[in-house]
Formats: sequence, structure tokens, C-alpha cells
Amino acid sequence: MIAEGVKTYRNYIGGEWRDGSATERLEIRDPANGELVYYCTNSTVEDARAAIAAAKHAFEHTDWSENAVARAKALYKLADALRASLDWLAPLLTREGGKPLAISRAEIMRGADALEYYAGLARNLYGRSINLGPNEMAILLREPIGVVSIITPWNMALSLLTRSLAPALAAGNAVVIKPASLTPGATAEFIRMIDETPEIPKGIVNYVVGPGSTVGAELVKHPDVEMVAFTGDTSTGKEIMRMAADGLKKVSLELGGKSPSVIFPDADFGRAVRSALSGASLWHAGQVCVAGTRILVQESIHDRFIEEARKQAGSLRVGPGLDKSTQVGPVISEGQLNRVLQYVEVGKREAELVVGGHRLTDGELARGYFVAPTVFDRVPVDAKIAQEEIFGPVVSVLTFKDEEEAAEIANATVYGLAAAVYTTDINKAMRLAKKIKSGMVWINTFGRLYPNAEMGGYKQSGLGRSYGLEGLREFTELKHINIQIHDPGRATSRRGDE
Ligand code: NAD
Repeated sequence: MIAEGVKTYRNYIGGEWRDGSATERLEIRDPANGELVYYCTNSTVEDARAAIAAAKHAFEHTDWSENAVARAKALYKLADALRASLDWLAPLLTREGGKPLAISRAEIMRGADALEYYAGLARNLYGRSINLGPNEMAILLREPIGVVSIITPWNMALSLLTRSLAPALAAGNAVVIKPASLTPGATAEFIRMIDETPEIPKGIVNYVVGPGSTVGAELVKHPDVEMVAFTGDTSTGKEIMRMAADGLKKVSLELGGKSPSVIFPDADFGRAVRSALSGASLWHAGQVCVAGTRILVQESIHDRFIEEARKQAGSLRVGPGLDKSTQVGPVISEGQLNRVLQYVEVGKREAELVVGGHRLTDGELARGYFVAPTVFDRVPVDAKIAQEEIFGPVVSVLTFKDEEEAAEIANATVYGLAAAVYTTDINKAMRLAKKIKSGMVWINTFGRLYPNAEMGGYKQSGLGRSYGLEGLREFTELKHINIQIHDPGRATSRRGDE
């Protein structure tokens, strides 16, 4: 039965809102209390194909790829529209995804910032030229790739979408967006802002909601898709790379992490503990890719650190994200709740539980998927909870003897997304920053991201870079146009003829 007065979101294909062809619609429920928030259409491979066809048609039959002025204007307008939506869109982000309202507001502002940054770059996508000889030269031209699929996860649905979408559009591509089926609504509201931006030709942006295994896979395999920009789990990223290999498609992969925060005794202790615990992203129940879920402390400050972590993690207020006093929201779903609780049970066997370690069911919390912020101590480097991405509010504390061992432990996972080092010795900080194999290293802070500075994964945390100039270049091809100048007075070199 369909509840009355509840909104239904639909696909957006070729500039039209359309129902998907799957028979069952999705019911999106608030992870804090199980209440129905909205419905969303659900799609099949046929809808994915229609979206790809619309994108291809718009790419080939509009001036979008050649009109940098329109692209810049469109992105500036979208940034303004997103900012103007703050008060009504943030609560929707919180209701669909669970995160505290302040985090949803910050996410919207970050999305707007990325749109504005790439709006500025849209007219500055320079190539190069080079003189190759007396009568020959090369123009290295940056061109858009064509149809790009953007596949996003549920944890930061809007800011992770804009992180890929803004450079993809700035570079002149057409896109098909597939959000995670758990959180399609805030993305659909943003698509409405795109629909209301006259500079964006219909068909340049398309949006299809459906399962990753069918709709997502089609958006990777279809021959008319030239590039896949994926953010999500490492195992899904590997599967996408395998599927993309057949068509030798370009992929950009932003995947999982198990980031270390390394604390030395000479750090500003109070600040370092607060920052490292906040870096574990307990506020979004640990559901953040860069979350610093491994905290490495030198032996001499271990006991002091554990006491402080017990106090701080144990006193965080857990509750619905819409409640202003909430510091830690729910995990996204029942499946995620069970997964996190299984890891917690493994942790109890592998290490020493300091605080938390259970589901919270007091009063209203019983209606949602709440896990007490959990800290494990004396975690062996090779423990499952120190190696695998839990995506829950679970922190592992490990100790190290010296700088060398700190670097070894920091590097002892398959991931390499981010890391933090806390010390007042800048030389030590820089030595470690160079040794740690990750796309990002923070010194005496955690989690700061900027649209004008690249981020991305080493090792199994990904391929390619997001944000910054590199983030824009990801969405381009480079063409060499070679010119031989006819000059009867001078002989042409034959070097380039082989
Ligand atoms: P997920 O991999 O399960 O899903 C991500 C998206 O991929 C969803 O839209 C899903 O429907 C789709 N998908 C699933 N299978 C697919 C397939 N076979 N083909 C095509 N698409 C498919 O990830 P999730 O659970 O939504 O998100 C959490 C994960 O995302 C965590 O591992 C987290 O670390 C990672 N993440 C990484 C970053 C980063 O910047 N590196 C940022 C946020 C999240």
C-alpha cells in the first residue's frame, strides 16, 4: 500500500522525469527511527540504456562540449542554488542518511564549494603547445571524454556526487548518475536544480536509480560509456575495473580506507586526542572513507590516551541526527548494523574492549540502528578489526615503540587513503608524512578537504585523484594535433614519419 502525501522521486532522463521500469518502488526509511521518508522509483537495465542514449545524443548534438562559458555559468548557478537550499535540504540528507544535521549542512556547503571551484576552472582548461622542429609543432588539446557514468555511495551522497560531477561537467562531458539505492532523494532534489539551470542542455545530466548489480553494471559495461567515476567499496571498485577492462574504459576509483592517526608523546595531548577521535568520524558512526579508525600511540602515553578515549568516546551523545544535541548518528541500515556488531564481537576476541561494544536500545533509540561508540585497545596489527574497513563507530588502538615502527604499522594494511601525524617536531612529522603510503597526510589535524587540493587513494584505496586540477584532468582526453608547416625555403624533418 502506498502512503498518502509521501513524495516519490523519479529518474531524470533526457530532461524528463520518468518512472523506472522495475515494478517495485523503493521505500526509503529514516535509520534513526524506521519512519518512511519518501518513495523512489526503481529501474532496470532498460532505463540505464535510455539514460546512456540520452547522454550520448546530447553530447553529440548540443554545443555543451564546446561552450565553456555556458558551463561556467551553469556551475556557478548550481553552487548558488545548492547554498540556497541549505535549510530544507540538510534535514532531508539527515533523514535519509542518519548523519547529524550540522554534518549535512557542512556537506551541502562543501558540494557548493566544489561546484564553484570547477565553475572557475571550466574556462581555464588549457592544453599545451610545443615547437617540435623548424617546421613542425604540436598542439596538445584537452577534450571531454564523452559519456561518463558517475556511481556514488550512500554515506556522503551529495558531496561525493558534486566532487565528480563538477569536474565532469566543467570539462564538457555528458553524465549518467546512479546514486546508492539507500539515499537517492537529496540527489534527486539536486537534479531538480540542474533541470532548472537553462545553460545545461537536456540530456547532458541524467539520473537513474537502481541496483548496482544490474543498473550500475550496465553503466559500466555499455559500449557508449567512455568513463566510469566510481566512489564506493574496494571490492565493488575491483569488480568495476574488471567490467571496464573489456571496453578498455577509463576508470576513476575512490575506494575504502583504514586510516592511521599516529600520536607521539610530544604532541599537544589534549588537542591530539580530540582530533584523532573526531578523525575516526564517530559523528557519522564511522561511516566515512577517510575515517581514522586506527589510532597509533607511542607506548609512554598509552595509558593516558586510553583513559581519555574512554572518557571522550563514552560521553558522546548518540541519537537521531535531527536532534541538535546529537553528536553520533545511527548507522545506515539493519544490514550495516549487523555487520558492525559482528566486527565488534570479533574485536572482543582479538583485543581488549575499552568502551562501547554494543547496540543502543534505550527508549527511542530502539527504533533505530544505533551503536555505542566503541574503542578497542591492544589491537594486534594483523587483527581483523585493524585490517578491514568496518564502516562503523569502532576504533582500534595500537601501540608503537619508535618512529620506524609507527610507519611500519601505519602502512600495514591494503589501504592507503589518508593518515594523520600528531607531534610538535616538524622534522619528525615530515619524515613520517613521506614514509606513509597514502594519498593524504594531515599534520596535527584530521579530515580537512579542499576542492582545490587533490585527494585519492594509494594501494587498494583507489585510482586517480579527485578535486584540484588533477581532478579535472581525470575527465579529459589529451589529443596531440601535429602540424607540419609548408615552408618551401626550409626542409621538413622526417623524424615524425616512422
Ligand atoms: P558500494 O560499493 O556497496 O556501493 C557504491 C555504489 O556502487 C552504489 O551506488 C551501488 O549501487 C553501486 N554498485 C554496487 N555494485 C555495483 C556493480 N557491480 N556495478 C556497478 N555499480 C555497483 O559502497 P557503499 O556501501 O555504498 O559505500 C561505502 C563504501 O564507499 C566504503 O567502502 C567507503 O570507504 C567507500 N567510500 C570511499 C570514498 C573515497 O573518497 N575514497 C568516499 C566515500 C565512501
